[in-house]
Amino acid sequence: MTEHQKLLPLSFEAPKPIIPLDTKGICIKNQTGLKFSLEVRVAKSTVYFIGPWTDMGRDIFAKLGKLLQRAEFPDFIQQNDLVALKLHFGEQGTTAYIHPSYVGFLVSQIKGRKALPFLTDTNVLYRGARGNSVDHLHTAFAHGFSPLVTGAPVIISGGLRGQTSIEVEIGKKHFQRVKLASEIEDFDKLICLTHFTGHLGTGFGGAIKNLGMGLAAKSGKLAMHSTLVPLIEQEKCTGCGTCGKHCPADAIKLQEGRRGEFAVIDPAACIGCGECIATCPSEAVDIQWNESAQNVQEKICEHAYGVVKRKQPVFFLTFLMNITPGCDCVGFSDTAIVPDIGILASYDPVAIDQASVDLVNQQQGMSGSKLKANLGHGEDKLRSLYPNIDWTVQLRYGEAIGLGSRDYELVCVDESNRR
Ligand code: SF4
Ligand code: SF4
Repeated sequence: MTEHQKLLPLSFEAPKPIIPLDTKGICIKNQTGLKFSLEVRVAKSTVYFIGPWTDMGRDIFAKLGKLLQRAEFPDFIQQNDLVALKLHFGEQGTTAYIHPSYVGFLVSQIKGRKALPFLTDTNVLYRGARGNSVDHLHTAFAHGFSPLVTGAPVIISGGLRGQTSIEVEIGKKHFQRVKLASEIEDFDKLICLTHFTGHLGTGFGGAIKNLGMGLAAKSGKLAMHSTLVPLIEQEKCTGCGTCGKHCPADAIKLQEGRRGEFAVIDPAACIGCGECIATCPSEAVDIQWNESAQNVQEKICEHAYGVVKRKQPVFFLTFLMNITPGCDCVGFSDTAIVPDIGILASYDPVAIDQASVDLVNQQQGMSGSKLKANLGHGEDKLRSLYPNIDWTVQLRYGEAIGLGSRDYELVCVDESNRR
């Protein structure tokens, strides 16, 4: 185990519930209601960095190779390891996802260690081009993530429809156990490749979100977004019965209405698997997006904690390039909000996300982008995009539950040709 791998403070257990939190300590209310402070001693994590600047004889792959070396990536991979590269293949219509050439380079490095890389993601909860493994594979290949381009196969984790899960005991505020894609049990190594973006629901989408939401089973995804059972819109429902056939809990029955039969869900029987949302041919079943931005972020952290608990250490690579205001789940790509910044590497998801937002906010905002205020160096670009979302929650809560450290050291690698 390397020094960097030792840095993840997974053994730290913060008391609950957490009220506010700062870099030095957390304020906790105990069972008698008295508040007291507790100093949280979280080790400083290392985040390695390369800028996007290249020149004749020093392309981005040469720099990426140095970044991997400096982050002791070769020691992380062992011969015959099944190495999962968790990434987002991009929803149909977007073009801002991580370029497949970067993935191909990483695959070649892993193969050089005589290990067995593959690309993976899980099927999404909502309707779109990634809701089942067949559609998802077509989308991945259409976006260039085919074995012919990257040199690695694509294996969608969590089953054909996203229902194959394992439960990981975490004992946190929102969840005692989290439901994750079952394949993670068999990953020998996990590499989390993240395209950093703004995000409508969480302020930003970084490594924590890629890990927590991205490797959850559909039931876990639904539990993060909603506390209610899915809603069937009677006007759209044709009474075809497809949802009932797929419901594993036999929670859906057809009822006679004024316009013929329609489906209803028994909330007491529903187990929140999300299958009815994915299978309805009439798009009549909706997620009830009732969860607050704060709770969604905390729940994502708890799922990410479950993944790291099972797979520690995880290697994180975050691409601060083409930083769009929305995530890669939306079917379009808007203009970047800041210039390209570079690529980060770490073994700590909280540290790499903290470094990412710090670097983004240090930039001058791009005129002509969706960013209309806070364009200056050091101003909060993410809060300007989504004024009602406190994006710091995922970092503060992630640190408080022991997912990682907000305190980091940024190590610049090969910046000799910086402009
Ligand atoms: S979410 Fe799952 S269990 Fe609940 S009604 Fe839909 S298919 Fe059935
Ligand atoms: S699958 Fe959709 S249209 Fe068919 S019964 Fe269920 S909700 Fe109605």
